[in-house]
Amino acid sequence: MRRKMDNVNHDETKTTDSHWEQICNRCGECCFEKTIDHKGAVRTLAVPCRFLDIHSRSCRIYHQRLQAEEDCIKLTPENLPKLNWLPENCAYRSIDASPKSADFRR
Ligand code: SF4
Repeated sequence: MRRKMDNVNHDETKTTDSHWEQICNRCGECCFEKTIDHKGAVRTLAVPCRFLDIHSRSCRIYHQRLQAEEDCIKLTPENLPKLNWLPENCAYRSIDASPKSADFRR
């Protein structure tokens, strides 16, 4: 099972978008294929998305990614709690993304 996501929520206001995007540390770990076993254990494979620039750890087709790659998932405050396959070091895992949280609202 491969899960990827982007780190921008275009559904929020522009100011909130900017702050939300800045939370990402650009590690690129979310853009590697993963397996999830029947117990929910996640294992990250050494297979990156075909659009990930391995050196810069950034998406080479950032503005077309959701159309070009059907497995790409847009990370939002709403779906964040459900994305238990995010890597342990993902910056979004350490924030409270609830609507009332000051972690992503400015
Ligand atoms: S794993 Fe998290 S911090 Fe790393 S690139 Fe993906 S969204 Fe950003």
